[in-house]
Amino acid sequence: MGQLIVSSNGTPAIRFGVCQRCLSADTRSFTCHHGACRYCRNCLHLGRVCQCDRLQEEDVTTPVESTELVMPFELSANQRRVSRQLLDWWEARTSGLVYAVCGAGKTEMTFPVIARVVNDGKRVLIVSPRRDVAIEWADRLETAFSVPITRRYGGGDKDTIGMITVATAPLLLNLRHVFDYVLVDESDAFPFAFDLALWWMLRRAGKGLFLFVTATPTVWQRQFPTVHLSRRYHGHDLPVPRLVRETEQAILDFCRRYDGSPRLLFVPTKPDLIRYGELLEVYGFVYKAVSADTGERTDVLEWLQAKSGIVLATSIWERGMTVTGVHVAILDSSHALFSSRALIQMAGRAGRKPDAPTGDVVFFYHERTFRQDRAIREIEEANRR
Ligand SMILES: [Zn+2]
Ligand SMILES: [Zn+2]
Repeated sequence: MGQLIVSSNGTPAIRFGVCQRCLSADTRSFTCHHGACRYCRNCLHLGRVCQCDRLQEEDVTTPVESTELVMPFELSANQRRVSRQLLDWWEARTSGLVYAVCGAGKTEMTFPVIARVVNDGKRVLIVSPRRDVAIEWADRLETAFSVPITRRYGGGDKDTIGMITVATAPLLLNLRHVFDYVLVDESDAFPFAFDLALWWMLRRAGKGLFLFVTATPTVWQRQFPTVHLSRRYHGHDLPVPRLVRETEQAILDFCRRYDGSPRLLFVPTKPDLIRYGELLEVYGFVYKAVSADTGERTDVLEWLQAKSGIVLATSIWERGMTVTGVHVAILDSSHALFSSRALIQMAGRAGRKPDAPTGDVVFFYHERTFRQDRAIREIEEANRR
């Protein structure tokens, strides 16, 4: 078990055109110091391997240590029920699925089982689809656990693997059979959602035991033993989206009505940021825009909270964001880019805090779609459970 590193002896890094580190066949011809050669393009971010390199598995794990856990707050009865289920699954070495609504306090619920796994002398991996979500996990784990947290995402630090690791998928490629417990957060949100390559990579890095945590499981994930968590940890219902026909007036009314509160407006595409942004500007609203292209997203989040401003965002912000007292509008919610899953996630940005458990959610529409109806129905069902 360990990490594949380039070394003078070991097995060839590229065999029959297939990279032995990431199993990609995406190799390119080039000239290295030995002459004509090939290198792998798929795992370049881990350092280039070429055909004349050799790979060796090296143990990069730190010595086993035990941990103390200080819970940041007391779990609710509902969260304790889920937490106990996770412990039972671990004792039985069973994989499972936590089907929890957005804002159910999923992170902290998993802390008891993480502590148990570590104190059984086993290693935990938390893998997240996005770097900012990974950072949030690592920060929260760090305040609760006494063992160091290994951060393996762009900008993360360690070469070694400790008892608890938080990672994004690309930085797991060269790991083999290291983790006894793999927690896949928001598992349906990975860029290549059900890509087999991702799945094999997680299987290679782990030892076959998984916990999927998501608000919107795929059909495939629903095959696993499942524990539901429908109530948010503060016990309030999820805000149910309202459907409003989209006009410029209706959008401006929404912005005016919640003047003094943070307002988050989702749009389908990047050109929409400009289009709707111009509308807001004409009527004197100050706003900031967030898309995959903009940096400093945490700055914008802080600004939104502190100044009770308006943010126009693409679906890049649909998960993992918590803003106290925010009101959410999904503009052009009929757009084909908004799946019912995405709509549920975006609606789930509202009312996440115990001291501000409600919030308005509006689906602005040009036409009614099955996806909107399904999102609303699923949110209502979750409230009834
Ligand atoms: Zn490769
Ligand atoms: Zn070479």
